[in-house]
Amino acid sequence: MTNELFRRLTTVYLGEAIRYPKLRAVTLAQWALESGRGGSVLARDHYNFGGLKWRKEMTPYATKVKYAAHDGEDFYCKFATLENFIAGYWAFLNRTPYSGWEANVATPEKFIRFIGPTYAPRPDYADAVLALVPEAEALLADVEKAEVAAVKPAVVPASLGAIVIDPGHGGTSDVSGSSANNAISASNVKEKKLTLDFALILRDELLRQAAARNETVQVVLTRTTDVNVTGKARAAMAFDHKAKLFLCIHFNGAKTATIRGAETFYRAKENDNINLEADMEFAGAVQKALFTALKTLDPGAKDRGVKPDNQGNPNLPGFGVLNDISLGNDRRQTPCRAAYIEAEFITNPSVDKLLISGPNAVQNRTAAMAAVAGACLTQMRNIP
Ligand SMILES: [Zn+2]
Repeated sequence: MTNELFRRLTTVYLGEAIRYPKLRAVTLAQWALESGRGGSVLARDHYNFGGLKWRKEMTPYATKVKYAAHDGEDFYCKFATLENFIAGYWAFLNRTPYSGWEANVATPEKFIRFIGPTYAPRPDYADAVLALVPEAEALLADVEKAEVAAVKPAVVPASLGAIVIDPGHGGTSDVSGSSANNAISASNVKEKKLTLDFALILRDELLRQAAARNETVQVVLTRTTDVNVTGKARAAMAFDHKAKLFLCIHFNGAKTATIRGAETFYRAKENDNINLEADMEFAGAVQKALFTALKTLDPGAKDRGVKPDNQGNPNLPGFGVLNDISLGNDRRQTPCRAAYIEAEFITNPSVDKLLISGPNAVQNRTAAMAAVAGACLTQMRNIP
């Protein structure tokens, strides 16, 4: 059995274009072995599924964390997101000790027998990894099937209905209504990577909290891979899934490093919001849950409040992704409620430590998303 975290890693890995796709299963098997199928402290707290020790070449991908493994205390890699781990793993192999590995990629077995003796001292290492390949292949197939099913209308409608979560940005080029990336964190992590990670955690929290009350919820993500999607196509998913809620996840950046705080936007009245009160209620509930959770984790957290998407300037067009016509709300009896979170300023070093690079970053973002999930589910229970 694999845990939620290892399934999330598998979801993200399926979407990554790696140079040798036929090595996907064997490397996933290796990570399953190294991380105890996602159960290790290094995996859980630092997204380090490979037991990768810190090396200076890992600077673009990871930060340094002290950890006491079975072979004593040492510095290991801490990855801010699952995408960063995947990129970091392949970069790790491009270091001198593994020279020549790309001449040994004809088969998964050849690959693991080449890198194995350098990666781990145990003589049966490659065999142990190879023994897990069928399990990794089955997991990849199962997760792929689940992701395809998640974006289709549910055969059995969920008792609480559907929610669309929209991880902001993605990919490498700007598209209409969505730039590839905006903010970059103090520790050099891109906003688009964080939005996806937070969205995947939020999805798991929604499913878990609903299941705990014998409820079901359909959770749809506008993207689960590093691709960009137009603002209109993101919003259209709310209509396609008859969603009750549509929630965008973003992070702020500022030139002034001390600026911080959480804020949530709704469609302004002047931007032809056709369900203003409902949107404001949803945005308010999300903001309250998010800020309360952040404040519990860090007394320095700031509440920047709930705001219209024109920020009070009637001449500003607002966020296209919140446009009611794009959301299909002009064609529905009960319009979808939409809100847009700017969870924090990732350019602030304290925020970076809290949510990205610090030892408790993964637990902290999980706590924040658990609170947001709770607020969303309460909304969904109260919408017919
Ligand atoms: Zn953004």
